[in-house]
Amino acid sequence: MKVLILSIGNELLSGRTLNTNATWLGRELTSVGCVVKTQIVVPDDKSSIMTILDELIDQDKKECLLLTGGLGPTDDDVTRESLFEFVGSDSKFDSEYWNHLSYRFDKFGMAIPESNRNQALVPLDGDIIDNPIGSARGFKFIMGQTVLISLPGVPSEMKAMARASVLPWLKVRSKLEVHSMTICTTGIPESALIEKIRIPIQNDHGCEVGYYPSLFGVDIRINSNDNSAKEFLVKEITSLLGDNVFAMDNNKLEDAVVKLALEQNISLSFAESCTGGLIGHRVTEVSGSSKVFKGSAVVYCNNSKIDILGVNKDSIEKYGAVSEQTAKEMAEKVRLMFSSDIGLSVTGIAGPGGGTDDKPVGLVYIGFSSADKIMVRKFNLGSGRSKNKLRTSQVALNLLRLEMDNV
Ligand code: AMP
Ligand code: MG
Repeated sequence: MKVLILSIGNELLSGRTLNTNATWLGRELTSVGCVVKTQIVVPDDKSSIMTILDELIDQDKKECLLLTGGLGPTDDDVTRESLFEFVGSDSKFDSEYWNHLSYRFDKFGMAIPESNRNQALVPLDGDIIDNPIGSARGFKFIMGQTVLISLPGVPSEMKAMARASVLPWLKVRSKLEVHSMTICTTGIPESALIEKIRIPIQNDHGCEVGYYPSLFGVDIRINSNDNSAKEFLVKEITSLLGDNVFAMDNNKLEDAVVKLALEQNISLSFAESCTGGLIGHRVTEVSGSSKVFKGSAVVYCNNSKIDILGVNKDSIEKYGAVSEQTAKEMAEKVRLMFSSDIGLSVTGIAGPGGGTDDKPVGLVYIGFSSADKIMVRKFNLGSGRSKNKLRTSQVALNLLRLEMDNV
């Protein structure tokens, strides 16, 4: 089924609020076999809402107009009355629901404000969509072949209602099953990745392929109505990309790292300079990481590298804090300090200042140390301080993932 998303809210137009509802709905609707035809944002204004509904609706088409926002209790929320007027439905006051709302306010020791009365208004024609976590209920109207659905703007409420009532309903009507998978890659730029998988992509594979590059890597999203076509293409792509694939379906690199460490019972420790503890942070976001992660030493200035970690003062003076030698010593020392199986170190120039011709912003050394291996890799990651921290944490975790098999 085709869906037209209409987001209603002044704050969406003024840029105060990001339209996350439309993004979330787009993804969820696609995954239940709907095709989102358009997304439109209009203000909390009755005539704008009526005009756009008039333009969008084609009652001969089996489509869904999905509205979010403007169902709150305040004066600026006018979706309810606009919609009732648009579909030509009278409304009545639902005293049972009003009592229920009053009781809920009462439980919090508050008298229910009169302004909430409009949330107890129900249309004489059309259905009510229950709100399991809030007070603004939604509505569903059928006009010819078209269905109009209105949900509140509060993202948590909108999602709960969509999951419970709207998406299952639309899925049944879409009759089109969509099978999806996301291949998560890292360590390869988008252009090189596309070149590697050019042949299977050019074939008649019966899938829709989307590329989603970010600082962390490129996700490849495969959708198909035919599950075996999807499986076949996923297999071909993953075998061509080999080590660059670290997970399926939006898992993070840190999840893959912790999973590998747990499977192989490998303990980890980090010596972090330019990432300021970010690698430790990412790993500790993963539940169960305490079984494998021993700790991170954030050794930002030279003295900390020398005094806390025991890096040789002469090496720093001779080669600099951002150097192969220092990265190597940091990895070795941190492994011994924490008695871990692997020590990983990062030292680099995050920018925007501090770069030279020899050592430009974005230069990063990553050291790896285990009982029988010591290695340092050099990367040039580009500009932007925060981006560099994120990129460094990603290449470091990726190096860890790739090396873990060889410990
Ligand atoms: P409403 O139902 O219009 O009263 O919206 C209530 C809250 O949800 C407000 O804080 C809005 O900023 C937020 N909100 C409304 N529409 C959206 C949207 N499309 N995406 C994200 N948040 C929204
Ligand atoms: Mg609003």
